[in-house]
Amino acid sequence: MATSTRRPFFCGNWKLNGTITESVALATEVRNGVATLREADVVVAPSLTAVHAVARRLEGGPVGVSGQNCFWEDKGAFTGEVSAPQLAEAGCKYVIVGHSERRQLMGELDAAVNLKARAALRAGLTPIICVGETLSERDAGETLGRVEAQLDIALLEMTADGLARSLVAYEPVWAIGTGRNATPAQAQEVHHFIRTRLAARFPDVAPAVRILYGGSVKPDNIRALMAEEDVDGGLVGGIVKEGSAS
Ligand code: PEP
Repeated sequence: MATSTRRPFFCGNWKLNGTITESVALATEVRNGVATLREADVVVAPSLTAVHAVARRLEGGPVGVSGQNCFWEDKGAFTGEVSAPQLAEAGCKYVIVGHSERRQLMGELDAAVNLKARAALRAGLTPIICVGETLSERDAGETLGRVEAQLDIALLEMTADGLARSLVAYEPVWAIGTGRNATPAQAQEVHHFIRTRLAARFPDVAPAVRILYGGSVKPDNIRALMAEEDVDGGLVGGIVKEGSAS
């Protein structure tokens, strides 16, 4: 971000937390807190039941709303799923796809992430496409290979216009909810790799794509992360799992 013209982007991922009332109250706090912030995009991703109420509360203001997940079909016999057009109708402009909690806990595969990103784009949503390695993959020296595979599959059949309307989030799994963030240098290495990989297919679009870092972002580490050339914002959950903070 240091010298870039890419507009910083921050998204709060509220995960499976908050009643509708609590979510609307938090959204109001966020809206009020960023009222004078002109130089960044700010988005919140509430739980599904609160999305519509939060979107109504934030309507017309600077804070956007994101879904946390969507299905790849627009409608049909898919009990329990939510489609991208439904999220758009509920007031979302964004949707997170491929979050590591979905990959790890719900068995979501790279190919599904691709279908979801494409469904989001069809519905006019901006997909926030998450990639990131596990600790054992990092320890085995497989970080870039894993990120490359996730990214390449997520972007299958994507057009330049589709990528221009997407964001990518690098979220090392070992840093999510653990209190242990990637160092700025570790983040920059992977963000630069992602941009280079995007540029190999879409040289005209890649320089403008915003690449977010996610994983134990806190007030005391965000500035150093944002000082890195290819770190354009953050995806922030903010829940430290008991006993995992270092
Ligand atoms: C996330 O869930 O996307 C995330 C980055 O979580 P945390 O900030 O808690 O690490």
